[in-house]
Amino acid sequence: PLVVFGSVNIDVVARLKHLPAPGETLHALGAHLGLGGKGANQAVAVARLGASVVLAGRTGDDMFADYARAALLREGVNSDHLLRTPQDMTGLAMICTDAAGENSIAVAGGANMTMDESDVERLVPLLSANAVVLMQCEIPMDVILAAARRIAAIGAMLVLDPAPVPAAGLPDALFGLAGVMTPNETETELLTGLRPHDVDSALEAARRLHARGLERAIVKLGARGVVFSDAGGHGFVPPFRVAAIDSVAAGDCFNGGLAVALSRGMDLGHATRFAAACGALATTRKGASEAAPTLAEVEALLAG
Ligand code: ADP
Repeated sequence: PLVVFGSVNIDVVARLKHLPAPGETLHALGAHLGLGGKGANQAVAVARLGASVVLAGRTGDDMFADYARAALLREGVNSDHLLRTPQDMTGLAMICTDAAGENSIAVAGGANMTMDESDVERLVPLLSANAVVLMQCEIPMDVILAAARRIAAIGAMLVLDPAPVPAAGLPDALFGLAGVMTPNETETELLTGLRPHDVDSALEAARRLHARGLERAIVKLGARGVVFSDAGGHGFVPPFRVAAIDSVAAGDCFNGGLAVALSRGMDLGHATRFAAACGALATTRKGASEAAPTLAEVEALLAG
């Protein structure tokens, strides 16, 4: 079984000619409400690939929580373990985008940031030795660490997206607990001190991640492809050629695909290629969770 333990946001997106300056009020060209948050995005990415998935986390008890649940239900994500906490607001991302594709974003973590040990206790019954768990870094780091310890103790596989890297960095213990980590270029630099720009520098960064205790490293290079490395070897997956228009949630679709592939027993190299196809397809569509591809689309791209 696949389990996501992480964040749920509602994205409020305004499309503008240019980003508002301080004190400026602008009329948007259009606006859009969508399901976002890295946890929810990765859960939807898994579901669209035809795998069953549980999303455990927290929302408030407000209209955004209703919206999130309805969207998750439509996508076939099990939200039975999404707790409503009336004292908090559902996570909210207020996003302004301009014609050039630039954006500015304010995120109010709300209920996501109130997750605590009790959520870890609610997660444990969902786990088993053959479970694959997806986590990201939009919930408190002590909760991530506590969950990672329980996941490792049960023998389940943890796919950790170190996004965003907290200001204090990641605790050393996490590197040994996460089976797989998937930093992008910025996150890799924050974790290793090395900004990867090609295969060799990405492999060097992967070596530094291994040195911190990480078993399987995946260094994502955006439109330049992705490098993977574990005890079985290492390699490079070149980017799939697609008409990219919006990179939002590409990383989330990558991780959803990676988890599905690993849960089906693929080795790291094949799983990375499957994931890269998912990430590439996500860039061809606008939106966060809405951008996730279906299994048929991924298989078609893989078949060339
Ligand atoms: P994140 O969204 O976490 O910053 P990336 O931007 O590296 O991560 O995107 C995740 C993955 O999606 C990449 O590793 C790659 O496989 C795929 N991808 C992203 N942008 C493109 C692109 N322009 N063309 C093809 N594949 C892409």
